[in-house]
Amino acid sequence: MTNREKLFGTNGVRGIINQSITVDLVLDLGKAIGSVLGPGQVAIARDSRMGGKMFTQAVIAGLLSTGCSIIEIGFAPTPTLQFFVPRSGSSAGVVVTASHNPAEFNGIKVIGKNGIEVSRSIEERITDVYYSKNFTVAAWNEIGSVVQDASALRQHIEGIKTHVDTAAIRNRNLTVVIDSANSVGALITPELMRELGCKVISLNSQLDGSFPGRSPEPILENVTELCKTVRSLGADIGVAHDGDADRATFVDESGRVVSGDQSFALIAKSILSKRPGSTLVTPVSSGRLIEDIASSAGARIEWTTVGSVDVSHKLEEIEGDLGGEENGGVFYPPHQSVRDGPMTVAQIVEIMAIEQKPLSQLIDELPEYYTIKTKIPVPTEKMNHIQKALLKLTEGQKRITIDGVKIISNEGWILLRPSGTEPLYRCFVESNSQETATVLSERGRILIQKAIEEA
Ligand code: MG
Repeated sequence: MTNREKLFGTNGVRGIINQSITVDLVLDLGKAIGSVLGPGQVAIARDSRMGGKMFTQAVIAGLLSTGCSIIEIGFAPTPTLQFFVPRSGSSAGVVVTASHNPAEFNGIKVIGKNGIEVSRSIEERITDVYYSKNFTVAAWNEIGSVVQDASALRQHIEGIKTHVDTAAIRNRNLTVVIDSANSVGALITPELMRELGCKVISLNSQLDGSFPGRSPEPILENVTELCKTVRSLGADIGVAHDGDADRATFVDESGRVVSGDQSFALIAKSILSKRPGSTLVTPVSSGRLIEDIASSAGARIEWTTVGSVDVSHKLEEIEGDLGGEENGGVFYPPHQSVRDGPMTVAQIVEIMAIEQKPLSQLIDELPEYYTIKTKIPVPTEKMNHIQKALLKLTEGQKRITIDGVKIISNEGWILLRPSGTEPLYRCFVESNSQETATVLSERGRILIQKAIEEA
């Protein structure tokens, strides 16, 4: 990352280990975070990625030099740290993770004292201090201490259990297959499900930053082993987490992958049945399904730009009741206003227990839409010019441009938006038939190709 390059992406700072994210960068980032959010106690966690220990020690050194003290919780999901921060009286939190990115990436997520990723304006302030090197320097006798705390996972599990009907789940005797992608979801979800009386089968549960089991993003092509396992063992449900377990993707008992829109819709339906007229918060990338669920329950939807940070902050601002993303992130503010993979799993198994129906049936009862998500690589030097070209190419069409370009027609919609972390455009389409969705997806790809040529 060269001078004044954007430090923060959609969710935190990410880069390729020892290339675009180095020990020097993380050390200075630690100093910058401490200068802006300190002094005070900072809680630190990491996932299983390569360089995790190295970057943890660098960020700790930077924070300490500004006068912060450190409470280290070790390997833990991002939502576990987020749950811990406000409950431990910390002024901030840092997670060393690159979430769902491929194995060669690592990164830093910065959490505010309320447990939510810091706002865009705080990211800006951290970036300013990082580049100006205008760091707070503590006096020799004001260097803080480093303590270890092993209670965060237990606190998180207990917190989740207070929000679900544990007796109902226990009576349902579910068999759950959990694929933790060789990362920190393995430290919480299998244990949580066992304590809720489920039979648990674990896949990829040894922590290994080379991700030998599968790539850490819980998308269709990465969960084929999970689908097969669920089917062949006759399990009731499969769960796949991403690298830091803030997201959960589900597989029904027939081995079919449930879309993030569908799992969000199931949870929304359940919340709205208890509290009609609630407010849901979701990014523009979500589909018609959530609108259907909301309108049938008299609920309001507040749309945001794409990014979990934006959803969390909107939920806090308007005191929203539930948030969700199409990628399998669900936010339940009575627990915490951030994505929480293990909490999402507990909510889904609770619905299966209370409704006394298999997951496939719960999904089949939802209105049916077809979505296709693809990623289109873009030459790095052209990334910043694609949006302008797309706006020109889609001029005069019905569209929403608050984040990328969402083109709406009678056939459905196409959303084209840049990735915040990689040199590519994401193409999401939705329609009420598979054939039309395929046509729209191809149309989206052609639009990006044209934009690349014109950029
Ligand atoms: Mg994540």
